[in-house]
Amino acid sequence: MRHSSLTEKAQLIGEYELRLHADWTTTSPMPRHYLHFGGNESVPALLKAQGIISDEESLGNKLEEENTALKPSIICLNCREANKPDSSFCSNPKCGMVLKYSAYNETIGEAEKTKKALESIEQRTTSLQTGIEEWEQRFKKLVDSVKGTLYYRSLKCEN
Ligand SMILES: [Zn+2]
Repeated sequence: MRHSSLTEKAQLIGEYELRLHADWTTTSPMPRHYLHFGGNESVPALLKAQGIISDEESLGNKLEEENTALKPSIICLNCREANKPDSSFCSNPKCGMVLKYSAYNETIGEAEKTKKALESIEQRTTSLQTGIEEWEQRFKKLVDSVKGTLYYRSLKCEN
């Protein structure tokens, strides 16, 4: 079995050697299928091994993790809840206060959009209202003219 023997070798030798051994090009994704994991590798190491992220990215991930750990938690001004340093909104379900300026801006942007949408609905409603009033006027005129005709006819009949 080519697969199981290569799997065994993958556990003994590195990926580079495996590529040489199996005569794959250095860009081939094939050796990854034969690399097995012990289960206690870190997520960045696994992602790196699977070729999802590069060396630099796994290093960046680590730095990011450390940065997040070093950053102080954000104390909510509204309810004094301590929030994760990267949270945009207060995690207290009774509060939900905006914690970041960018999130605040987004919220304002959303509110602005909603306001504009409402304004356009209002405008449409107004023009619809105007349309209805016009129809009402026309209907009234029509009713009046029918009434007038009936009245005229009734006069005629009396004579
Ligand atoms: Zn809060």
